[in-house]
Amino acid sequence: MTSHRAQRSVHSRRTTSDGSRDVDSGASIGGRRKAVRVGVRHTGGRKKLFPGLPSVPSLVGAAVLALAAVGVTISQPEVAPVVPAATDFPKFAHQASVLNADTSMGSGSALTGRARAVSRDSQREAVQDAADAELQAQAESQAKERNAALRALAVSAEQYADQIAQSLWQLPLPAGSYRLSSRFGECSYLWANCHTGLDFAAPSGSQIYNVAYGVVTEVGYAGSYGNRTIVTLPDGTEMWYCHQTSFAASVGETVVAGDPIGYVGSTGNSTGPHLHLEVHPGAGDAVDPMGAALVRGLQF
Ligand SMILES: [Zn+2]
Repeated sequence: MTSHRAQRSVHSRRTTSDGSRDVDSGASIGGRRKAVRVGVRHTGGRKKLFPGLPSVPSLVGAAVLALAAVGVTISQPEVAPVVPAATDFPKFAHQASVLNADTSMGSGSALTGRARAVSRDSQREAVQDAADAELQAQAESQAKERNAALRALAVSAEQYADQIAQSLWQLPLPAGSYRLSSRFGECSYLWANCHTGLDFAAPSGSQIYNVAYGVVTEVGYAGSYGNRTIVTLPDGTEMWYCHQTSFAASVGETVVAGDPIGYVGSTGNSTGPHLHLEVHPGAGDAVDPMGAALVRGLQF
């Protein structure tokens, strides 16, 4: 190793008191080193050639020490130090100028750097604006979807309310203005068959109101039923309004509960003014109107 050689060189050179040096000959006799005295005597004693300058041995010693130091520092990587030559300085200067050109932000080109910074800020603002526009578009789209959903819900609610309203039944005559004179299923010698409806005795000419939502499907005189109006409900149920003096609704007319149907009378097989009401589910046989009304939450 260079450092070992350098250290051994240092140790092997010992300046004697008279200026001579013991130089290790490198030979070894009987395990003992024999110092060979090489006398180097300068004429005129130890007078220096150039007073004021270090002596040659001192310069040599300093050089050896310097080399030893260099050897220590480069001994680890085993790579010789790269000492730039004087001819390399133009190259370094060129590299430095290139570096300065590439890093003009920190050099004298402040305007260029500021322009780049402004450009970056503009790009950042453009990206932010684009993101804001996208978010706004998404929010508007979501708002439209929400409004559409709310409108659809409102329409659905209105339809449901209509269905509820349509399904509700109302009294054919104002409460307290009539008397139930004959129930469904009663039998009498007055009838060819047992009573198939419900009788509402009321003064002649009293306004008869529609009981349930439907369409007027028949208006006219019907034998023992007298003047009869038939309203067909959405489920096919027929409501018969009989013995009227006159009509207040026409065939094909859509009527809701409470709309006028006609007027109380005694036409047909009748002993006095009353409304004979019949209910025919699915246009079939008559059922008790009281039971049908109770299903709808209405009590006659
Ligand atoms: Zn009757």
